[in-house]
Amino acid sequence: MPAVGILHPSVRLWVAEPGQDGLPASMIRQPSPNQGARRGAPPEAVIDTIIVHFTNMATAEAAVERLCCPEAGVSCHYVIAEDGRIWQLVEETARAHHAGLGGWGRIAEDMNSHSIGIELANRGDVPFPDPQMQMLERVLCGLMNRWRIPPERVIGHSDMAPDRKDDPGPRFDWRRLARQGLAVWPDARASGDDDLATFRELTEAVGYRPDFSDEDVLRAVRLRFRPWARGPLEAGDIAVLKDMATRFPVDRRGVRT
Ligand SMILES: [Zn+2]
Repeated sequence: MPAVGILHPSVRLWVAEPGQDGLPASMIRQPSPNQGARRGAPPEAVIDTIIVHFTNMATAEAAVERLCCPEAGVSCHYVIAEDGRIWQLVEETARAHHAGLGGWGRIAEDMNSHSIGIELANRGDVPFPDPQMQMLERVLCGLMNRWRIPPERVIGHSDMAPDRKDDPGPRFDWRRLARQGLAVWPDARASGDDDLATFRELTEAVGYRPDFSDEDVLRAVRLRFRPWARGPLEAGDIAVLKDMATRFPVDRRGVRT
């Protein structure tokens, strides 16, 4: 359980307050109407995944406006601007509308009930500035402690929905997060072959769902770990997956006890 915060007496929801739980005092709370209760009872609906997105909009303010618009129907838990400003649109205990169809590891559907969604203001084609990354790291640290989320369950939207999503994109610095234990990153020294059956076996061990095509999964793997790679499956793809499957197999490390 978190050390500080407010357990709301009537609805029994954990309410994270600005200035507490690692969240900055300057955090703006702007509740979105696009939310509801998480579905299912624990352990089914346990919060165990964090999904990182980019907004693909001109400004953070425009993204917040859209994520709070009833007609749009979408939302997320946190929005972080390029300069590190942060908004909370949905309480962590509630279900936000950010993930859509897809899955990760043992979770095949309704990722919204299992996850926290963080939107980073970015068009997808420029690096994520340091103040934004610093705020993300601060929020991730709190979330992972609060909900006991392992680093292999901090993923991109493209990881859980390889057939239709490409955020947070090739400019996002996963390696920086991994150095702090806030995500996972492969060892570049690993070696591998280019066998397709091995590829699917390894991607499943890492967390990619079997429901997606070889092409979509390869695209998602490269987007995250080898954004420079082109063409058919190659040994380098297998190498990074082999290392990841060995060191960070999803849902198998018994972290949640
Ligand atoms: Zn997204």
